Amino acid sequence: MQAKQQQLIGGTWLDGEAEALAKTDPVSGQTLWEGRCAAPTQVEAAVAAARAAFPAWAQTPFAERQALVERFREVLEHHREALATAIAGETGKPLWEARTEVGAMIGKVALSIRAYEERTGERQRDLGDAKAVLRHRPHGVMAVFGPYNFPGHLPNGHMVPALLAGNTVVFKPSEQTPLTADLALQCWREAGLPDGVINLVQGAAPVGQALASAPDIDGLLFTGSAKVGGLLHKQFAGQLDKILALELGGNNPLVIKDVPDQDAAVLTILQSAFLSGGQRCTCARRLMVPEGEVGDRLIEALVSAIDKLRVAGQFSEPAPFYGGLVSVAAADGLLKAQDELEALGGSVLSRMRRLEENTSLLSPALIDVTGLPVPDEEHFGPLLKVYRYRDWDEALRLANDTRYGLSAGLIGGERADWDDFLLRIRAGIVNWNRQTTGASGDAPFGGVGDSGNHRPSAYYAADYCAYPVASVEADDL
Ligand code: NAD
Repeated sequence: MQAKQQQLIGGTWLDGEAEALAKTDPVSGQTLWEGRCAAPTQVEAAVAAARAAFPAWAQTPFAERQALVERFREVLEHHREALATAIAGETGKPLWEARTEVGAMIGKVALSIRAYEERTGERQRDLGDAKAVLRHRPHGVMAVFGPYNFPGHLPNGHMVPALLAGNTVVFKPSEQTPLTADLALQCWREAGLPDGVINLVQGAAPVGQALASAPDIDGLLFTGSAKVGGLLHKQFAGQLDKILALELGGNNPLVIKDVPDQDAAVLTILQSAFLSGGQRCTCARRLMVPEGEVGDRLIEALVSAIDKLRVAGQFSEPAPFYGGLVSVAAADGLLKAQDELEALGGSVLSRMRRLEENTSLLSPALIDVTGLPVPDEEHFGPLLKVYRYRDWDEALRLANDTRYGLSAGLIGGERADWDDFLLRIRAGIVNWNRQTTGASGDAPFGGVGDSGNHRPSAYYAADYCAYPVASVEADDL
């Protein structure tokens, strides 16, 4: 496959007509993709193409829609390595992790088919002289917005359910990952995607704005930051007829109750906070540690493990624990955040450093901010804040002291502590003695507060990709 550097509108690859867009590997500096953003008229044309394709696609029997996504899965299998290389190159994540992401894209197809059948398939109930039938219908044209950190898997997790339900799509990927989007759309075309069923518009916020404000979209399925999600929520206010699914960020807590196994606790913390260089929405951002000896020993062991963590270029051998951040500018932002926390009075236990000049490679930061007025922000990178607590109630108060509520974790404690944690923590994804970054594919994935608007994805995306039609049919007709 080769990068086409284009938009896909109504089945035709077109040059962008607005400003230039380019993506470089944030570690090697190599140019990966060069093209132009979609102009507002091209966004309009993409929505019109999706609208034109909708009636036929909605009336296509489910078995044919299913056959398309299954062919797509086969094509993905075939281009696994090309996609993984593009994802690693654009995002900075290690190749092993990019390969896992492509595996998740492939797995999503079977999961979405099962979800469609179980959650939106037809149901019948006998009423004696009539039968009640529940069917589901597609909404129409769905705009799908992708974030940069899982540029293959996350948009795919919305597009596959949307298509299975009979919707058509306009896809706007992150401007940080145009190559992955380009290749993914080539895979769809190779699988036999009919013209207009998925359209691709590339570019940054102006393209997103043009798409979000297009009058003819029926829904917007968005994964990204709370800042942009909040903006879209305001824009959609009062539009009762439109679906808006927001999957946003978090300022996720990980609470240490006690430390029955120090090595296991340290590993869980590293995987929670620093997997993907902290560029996962579920990464732990705040670590609540008990005051006293147990906490001191754990912090000491954590600092020493951080010193040994292998951070290196995505393609280097042996494979790194994590690679670069998505861009040199993102790395600059994280270094600035460390300076700000230090200026507030934070005590730096492990200092974040740029590992190679002009790259996005950063070592992890561990900063004790106990008792400081730290802003409730998601630091989307390898930066973990430590809070020392006096008692369990204070630990829970600190953990819930955030406007977000995506993931949370507990390490140690008895079952009664876990039960209490589950009752009192405000988060959508909660783990015990497990990394906060894991989630089961068939469970709802989403959060409360500023982490989203309660339309969880994964298995549950099927729910908002179609609406239920309840009917009663008399037997004697
Ligand atoms: P982002 O919000 O900057 O961008 C997301 C998408 O919105 C991109 O396609 C971007 O081009 C577009 N966009 C940006 N500004 C816009 C505007 N003004 N109007 C319309 N569209 C606009 O997010 P990101 O930096 O790409 O991704 C990281 C964020 O995503 C983090 O906050 C992370 O927590 C979150 N995230 C959440 C989940 C989840 O499932 N809850 C999963 C992954 C990432």
